[in-house]
Amino acid sequence: MAQYDSHSGSESPADRPNGEKNSKRSKSKDNGKKRSLDSDAATTGPNGTRALGERRSSVSKPARDFRDKPEPSPKKKKRKTSSVPAPVEEVPTPDEAGELAIRSPSPVIDFDGLSRPSAGTRQRLEEDDAQKEVRLARMKGAVKTLLECIGEDPDREGLLATPERYAKAMLFLTKGYQENVRDIVNGAIFQEGHNEMVIVKDIEVFSMCEHHLVPFNGKMHIGYIPANAVIGISKLPRIAEMFARRLQIQERLTKEVANAIMEVLQPQGVAVVMESSHLCMVMRGVQKTSSSTITSCVLGCFERKEKTRNEFLSLIGVNR
Ligand SMILES: [Zn+2]
Repeated sequence: MAQYDSHSGSESPADRPNGEKNSKRSKSKDNGKKRSLDSDAATTGPNGTRALGERRSSVSKPARDFRDKPEPSPKKKKRKTSSVPAPVEEVPTPDEAGELAIRSPSPVIDFDGLSRPSAGTRQRLEEDDAQKEVRLARMKGAVKTLLECIGEDPDREGLLATPERYAKAMLFLTKGYQENVRDIVNGAIFQEGHNEMVIVKDIEVFSMCEHHLVPFNGKMHIGYIPANAVIGISKLPRIAEMFARRLQIQERLTKEVANAIMEVLQPQGVAVVMESSHLCMVMRGVQKTSSSTITSCVLGCFERKEKTRNEFLSLIGVNR
């Protein structure tokens, strides 16, 4: 009988203190305490039952991470007490954060079409010959330092021109920062009234891992379903190239290509899949030489319709 009581007693407060806790956390301390005491007194009579109920609820709840805190609280706050002035600044943020977490932001295409320019992109783009020389000299110096640090002799014949070669190679491998998506597309968008899937597969892609500054390369497959307008087919590999010639991680590269196509063409949907091999993984680190990394980004109808997505995947031969 006593057990029955405490059990049935603990059921309802198990729900209550949850809500209580959230609002307590978000509100000023005094206010919260008062409320929790009030409601507990109302739901359960004896002291022991209240304690049990409270302890139970905290145990049955998963451990709380501080990052979880702002998520559930504003809803409860809004519903329960609209008179509390404190949370006002907090209310819009979690919604926005939630949105951003689900939808990755599209690349910034600024007024002259540079997509996600990095800090020094414009400076590099607009420099004159003298500034170019200064940049090259600095890079050569840095490479020479590297050679010295690994115990090499930068003055031996084979290495004499290496700093300059490497500097120039590095500038080439990162030239995508300065490319302009509008120049690449260059008006090659045609109103064809075509609404069937278009796929360009096995696009060879070479990029640089931003964590180790070593290459990763592989194949990218791009598909889209036009909304009447189609893009010149050669533009897709060029857009891939523009984002690959940067310091990248494969996940972001995949996403940026998909977002850029979405933005310039506005089709019904875009799907991008990339499979690649990372030298930082196969040459060092875990040295799994045969491993490949697959990333994908699907937008629009590819995201909404499983059938469309599967059609794309089977056409590129990834889910065989
Ligand atoms: Zn790496």
